[in-house]
Amino acid sequence: TPALRLRGLKKTYDNKVEALKGIDLDVEPGDFFALLGPNGAGKSTLIGVVSSLVNASAGEVSVFGIDLLRQRSLAMRQIGLVPQEINFNMFEKPFDICVNYAGFYGVPRPEAEQRAEHELRAAHLWDKARVMSRTLSGGMKRRLMIARAMMTRPRLLILDEPTAGVDIEIRRGMWKTLREVNARGTTVILTTHYLEEAENLCRNLAIIDHGRIIEQGPMKQLLAKL
Ligand code: ADP
Ligand code: ADP
Repeated sequence: TPALRLRGLKKTYDNKVEALKGIDLDVEPGDFFALLGPNGAGKSTLIGVVSSLVNASAGEVSVFGIDLLRQRSLAMRQIGLVPQEINFNMFEKPFDICVNYAGFYGVPRPEAEQRAEHELRAAHLWDKARVMSRTLSGGMKRRLMIARAMMTRPRLLILDEPTAGVDIEIRRGMWKTLREVNARGTTVILTTHYLEEAENLCRNLAIIDHGRIIEQGPMKQLLAKL
C-alpha cells in the first residue's frame, strides 16, 4: 500500500484558476519524496488537499490505503504537517509546545513528555527545551516545527516549502533533522523550489508545473535528464 496515492486529482478555485489538472502520484512507505516546481505550480494546493485544508474538485486521495474523503479523521491521524509559516506561540517553551500539541491529539501526559524529550533531542533542541521560544534562532524555530509535528508519531510527514527564504546553514540543519526523521521509518514528502534541496534529501521526486506532473521518478534518473 502506498503511503500516499493520488488519482485524477483536480482542484479549480472559485476564481476559475485550475491549480491541479489531474494529478496521479504514488509515494511508497519509507520514501523521502520531493515535489519540485516553480511558484504557482500547484504544490501548496496539492499539500492543502492532502492535509484536508483544501477541498478537491475531483479525484481520489488515500493515505496508507485509507480514503481521505471517506475516512478523513482516520487518514489525518497518519499525517504530520509542517506548514510554511512558523505558527507556534512564541511565549511558550519548546517542551510545553510539544507536550501540549500531543495532548491536543489525546496523547497521555507522561507519554507526551517522553516523546517531547525524544523529538527535541532529534531536532537538536534539547538544550533549549525550557527557554522562551521567541529567543530561538530562525533555524531552531524551524526545527521546532518539525519536532512538534512528530509528536503525534505520524507515519507520513508533509512539509510545505520548509526552507523557503532561509540561508544555507539553517537549511543544512533542517536537512539533518529530516534525514533522522526519515531514517526512523517516517515517510517524508516535501515541496520545494530548490533543486539542490531535492537533490540532497530525496530518493524520488515529481516535478509539477501549471498543475500537472511533468516528470516523475528516482532522483538519480531525473538528474541525468536535466
Ligand atoms: P505553489 O505552491 O506551487 O506556488 P499554489 O498551489 O499556491 O502553487 O498555486 C497554484 C495556482 O493556484 C496559482 O495560480 C495560484 O495563484 C492559485 N491559487 C492558490 N491558492 C488560491 C486560492 N485560495 N484562490 C484562488 N487561486 C489560488
Ligand atoms: P498558538 O497560536 O497559541 O500557538 P494555535 O491555535 O496556533 O496556538 O495552535 C498551535 C498549533 O496546534 C497549531 O499550529 C496547529 O498545528 C495545532 N492545532 C491547534 N488547533 C488545532 C485544530 N483544531 N486542529 C488541528 N491542529 C490544531
